[in-house]
Amino acid sequence: MKKTTIILKRNNFDQLSIKMKILKLVERKKIYEAAKLLVESTDAIALTGAGVSTESGIPDFRGEGGIWEKYKPEIYGNIKAYLRDPTKFWKMAEKVAPKLFSAEPNPGHTALADLEDMDILKAVITQNIDELHQKAGSVIVYEVHGNINRFNCFGCRASYTKDQVLRKLKKEKHYPPQCDMCSAPLKPSVVLFGEALPTFEIYQSQALAGKADIMLIAGSSLSVDPVADLPMYTLSNQGKLIIVNDRPTYLDEKAEVVIHHKTGTVLPLIVEEIKKIQASKSSSGESNDSD
Ligand code: NAD
Ligand code: ZN
Repeated sequence: MKKTTIILKRNNFDQLSIKMKILKLVERKKIYEAAKLLVESTDAIALTGAGVSTESGIPDFRGEGGIWEKYKPEIYGNIKAYLRDPTKFWKMAEKVAPKLFSAEPNPGHTALADLEDMDILKAVITQNIDELHQKAGSVIVYEVHGNINRFNCFGCRASYTKDQVLRKLKKEKHYPPQCDMCSAPLKPSVVLFGEALPTFEIYQSQALAGKADIMLIAGSSLSVDPVADLPMYTLSNQGKLIIVNDRPTYLDEKAEVVIHHKTGTVLPLIVEEIKKIQASKSSSGESNDSD
């Protein structure tokens, strides 16, 4: 049993060092810089978007060939459209939801959970609704766009779990599922286009962003307001940005470190680099102690 764990860990390590080798020298340097900034930080936070979950099989909104090309989020995920025709929304949800429900965290999510475990990241603010950060082990997570696993009645605000709604759909065979209390349609507790964001989560995110000395932005196009403004709170209080995204964002030129690559590759490499920095610090501390 022990042997298997060691072999698995070694395989993991080998895979990581192969990935490190195929990255260009310039990216390796940036990974080191990001790691150094995080090690030296006192109030680092992460801001994540749909890009951290694409490697778990959940398409983002703006990628090519994704399910969203068929179901334009601005149309299907719009609160006015939902109120006009909740059945149309639920039929779309039936197609989209299985991917969200069956997804598992990828190494990018795990790396962020590791960073919290190492007491480097103080919180994750996420635009994602898939709960994969929590599944990976992150504890302090602010979901500014809601969560696909909880549902609310649009009329009386009664709340329902995913399992209750799935059971209801199976039993009643009726779209949209309706509230047992007031018969109004149920809605996933995700923020649709045209809906207000949860007040507390946004307030808390702005406070954390304002206090952060480092904001690690991963897998977000930074094009959905008001979340796209959060990095400005960090910048205006002399905090620094690290951006990991496979495409440029409007804040690249203001960031301290920008890495255009997959989050599932880069974030674990940053964690490995941090471990090396910490190990070398503690061994030089030890040798100083013995002097
Ligand atoms: P977005 O789709 O606008 O941007 C995602 C960004 O990540 C893009 O720039 C893309 O190029 C990049 N990207 C994709 N895969 C990547 C990877 N493996 N590594 C690095 N970069 C990668 O997403 P957004 O900025 O988060 O905002 C859109 C909205 O989409 C949000 O409101 C969010 O609530 C919602 N959304 C959530 C999910 C989810 O929960 N997984 C999925 C789709 C959309
Ligand atoms: Zn109700």
